[in-house]
Amino acid sequence: MEKNIPYKTYLNEDEMPKQWYNVRADMKNKPAPLLNPATHKPMTAEELSAVFCKELVAQELDNENAYIDIPQEILDFYKMYRPSPLVRAYCLEKILDTPAKIYYKFEGNNTSGSHKLNSAIAQAYYAKKQGLKGVTTETGAGQWGTALSMACAYLGLDCKVFMVKVSYEQKPFRREVMRTYGASVTPSPSETTEVGKKILREHPGTTGSLGCAISEAVEVATHTEGYRYVLGSVLNQVLLHQSIIGLESKAAFEKLGVKPDIIIGCAGGGSNLGGLISPFMGEKLRGEADYRFIAVEPASCPSFTRGKYAYDFCDTGKVCPLAKMYTLGSGFIPSANHAGGLRYHGMSSTLSQLYDDKLMEAVSVEQTKVFEAAQQFARIEGILPAPESSHAIRVAIDEALKCKETGEEKTILFGLTGTGYFDMVAYQKFNDGEMTDYIPTDEELAKSFAGLPKVD
Ligand SMILES: *Cc1c(COP(=O)(O)O)cnc(C)c1O
Repeated sequence: MEKNIPYKTYLNEDEMPKQWYNVRADMKNKPAPLLNPATHKPMTAEELSAVFCKELVAQELDNENAYIDIPQEILDFYKMYRPSPLVRAYCLEKILDTPAKIYYKFEGNNTSGSHKLNSAIAQAYYAKKQGLKGVTTETGAGQWGTALSMACAYLGLDCKVFMVKVSYEQKPFRREVMRTYGASVTPSPSETTEVGKKILREHPGTTGSLGCAISEAVEVATHTEGYRYVLGSVLNQVLLHQSIIGLESKAAFEKLGVKPDIIIGCAGGGSNLGGLISPFMGEKLRGEADYRFIAVEPASCPSFTRGKYAYDFCDTGKVCPLAKMYTLGSGFIPSANHAGGLRYHGMSSTLSQLYDDKLMEAVSVEQTKVFEAAQQFARIEGILPAPESSHAIRVAIDEALKCKETGEEKTILFGLTGTGYFDMVAYQKFNDGEMTDYIPTDEELAKSFAGLPKVD
């Protein structure tokens, strides 16, 4: 007989993690280093310090220390919206009529509506500590820009956001949330940077991409005294900060005396998934426990399932270091897909290495199937999920339905990364039956792979 598991499990303040966990410390095969795009030599701390804050560079390059203290100021900020609840999805289990036990870790309980605030506050804190005036960044769907605006407002830092033009126009409310928090928001590509002008000359009328916006934000950071660039996903440091998600989940499960069998997360650049699985992956790497980890990506932007594991550019303007990752090529422009946060061409190099070492699985799912899951979840569990998060919901439901067939009582954990209130155009398309499932052809991918840099 299963003991009485509450619908929601929270940690007490004194049970909250005080250190982040760095999974790289326990990896036998470390993620490949960032390379200087001109020399193809590993980026030194000094080179990286021109772009990123010093302390964040140290975290980026740290493959040794398993635990890193969370500064008190960040712990205090976390207390305003953490711990996030670990929820037992009893209602979903019931409607699926599955013997599986489904849990989700809900990160949507803050104004940014996603997990991104966990890293935004950390990055803004280190920028402030270094005595900087401000930071620059890009945002696609807008969650990262919002999170960073909130963190900068709290710490009194200036925040310059380059927002992918199509989102800037389609999501005016996201833009206004950022401006309310004091950020300046520029549609990208713009005439305010050299790289923006160049991209506009070569692609007049372009509605922009994350890769373009990154190039512009990096240019402004490296050309403005007292500014550095910050990034909301992909980087090792971001996975480190996001480990708070997994650490809290693990502590909550331990409190309940439960162990998950399958851990599922959506994967854009890999930060929420990396953060959620890190402490569990650590146990697997050390041979202490075993779990199945599943990354879920859109079929329209399938970095893991159809990408190549290779060094690639991180941005369109090719000003950033090269990263070895599962990639579709930096020239890949995903088709209009409503999960804006999952449209990046590459993937975290830490997760890429774990996937290449077969420690993690990946699946891709089609958009309409994702929204079917989102709708079912919203109706039965109450929360209106972000389209990104709904990729994880889709696969959690699929795994639970498999348990129904086999009668297995698996325990499933998935990351519910955020809410979808700013994504109602997507929901409208779905509700009107106008949503399409575009899947890139092999020819399209081959064309994009041809643009990969040659690195030996
Ligand atoms: C940004 C975002 C994602 C994807 O980013 P990762 O770095 O892969 O975690 C997923 N869900 C939400 C709600 C997001 O805002």
